[in-house]
Amino acid sequence: MKVVQAYRYALDPTPAQAAALASHCGAARFAFNWGLARVRAALDQREAEKTYGMPEELLTEAPWSLYGLRRTWNAAKGAVAPWWADNSKEAYSSGLDGLARALKNWSASRRGERKGKPVGFPRFKAKHRTTLSCRFTTGVIRIEADRRHVTLPRLGTIKTCESTRKLARHLERGTGRILSATIRNEGGRWFVAFTCQIDRADRAPARPDAVVGVDLGVRALAVLSTGEVIDNPNHHRAALRRLRRLNKRLARRVGPRTPDGGRRQPSACWHTTKAALVRAHARVAAQRRDGLHQLTSRLVAAYGTVVVEDLHVSGMLANRKLARAIADVGMAEIRRQLAYKTAWRGGRLVVADRWFPSSKTCSGCGAVKAKLALSERTYSCAACGLVLDRDVNAARNLAALAADVAQSCGETRNARGAGVRPAEGGLSAVKREPRETGERRGRKATAA
Ligand SMILES: [Zn+2]
Repeated sequence: MKVVQAYRYALDPTPAQAAALASHCGAARFAFNWGLARVRAALDQREAEKTYGMPEELLTEAPWSLYGLRRTWNAAKGAVAPWWADNSKEAYSSGLDGLARALKNWSASRRGERKGKPVGFPRFKAKHRTTLSCRFTTGVIRIEADRRHVTLPRLGTIKTCESTRKLARHLERGTGRILSATIRNEGGRWFVAFTCQIDRADRAPARPDAVVGVDLGVRALAVLSTGEVIDNPNHHRAALRRLRRLNKRLARRVGPRTPDGGRRQPSACWHTTKAALVRAHARVAAQRRDGLHQLTSRLVAAYGTVVVEDLHVSGMLANRKLARAIADVGMAEIRRQLAYKTAWRGGRLVVADRWFPSSKTCSGCGAVKAKLALSERTYSCAACGLVLDRDVNAARNLAALAADVAQSCGETRNARGAGVRPAEGGLSAVKREPRETGERRGRKATAA
């Protein structure tokens, strides 16, 4: 199966190399801001000209395609950035590419041609608020034969913190091709991500016909329909004491703001503490990422079909009491990983509708309760007398849903949720009205 995927490695640069990495990312930011200023000036000029009644074809042009931006940059760079030769030309291209995409998204959003939240006009990238990042698409992008170094245009050969074996094997076998490389500073460390075209040969799931329902939660990270409970590691909660201490220490240092709100130069101590805080957050993110990848990989390796709920994560995050616990779990990320990993292995991911009453339905007889308080941890059915852990019951209902989808495939395909992309191989969805679900469950109950 041919896929585009990224391989990311932490870098171990020398101080000079780290400076060069930062310089390239700064160059990308500079080009972005320069281009944005040009486009804004041109658009303002057009607006003014329109008020004079100038005909459309005589208005000032505002070229904001990548091609147009690059051409104007190359003409102007000698004057606006006499130091431009210090960095690879790819760095400036990378910044202008980001700008061209941002402008395209903004204009598509304004014309109503783009799904999702409205996209605003791009803003200038402030030096201390921007993630340092830069992408290389041409030039020498290579993994060295010792599997411990990578070579990037202009930056030369940089040591990696871990072996590049997995990607190197694909390249040696001819089943992989590097399309681009992106450098990025995250939590104070440098990373390189190679975007590659990979011909994957994943093994099929161990039990291709098996179905597992996964009930995601906060108390337990996940409860499977098999009864297995995956504990919530609560990485963020575990780190809270340390984060709190660092935040308090940071507040005592001479920071970028004066007490009356003005700006000042932060002290060296402030920068040290800030870096420690950033590292602490990055560590939590890394721990969470590792746990989620292990869980989702294990599920798709074992089961042919995985069923999850379509949770309204952004809505739940709006609840101030729940937000921290829910964000700590990373529910949306679990689903994203399951979607592509099932596709890789030829498995199937079924996403239950948002209103599917997985918790309120009895997994034994199909009766649906009108109400089920969050505090009720065991499900006890009034109709058939089933007593079961609440989350296991929900997971079993999800697993049963996979059979429903298989039976009524044509119907569910027609009624597929609008937000689900069929191109994602293993992904299929059940979209039902809430009332209809209850009825259907009810009918099934009488038939059984
Ligand atoms: Zn029952």
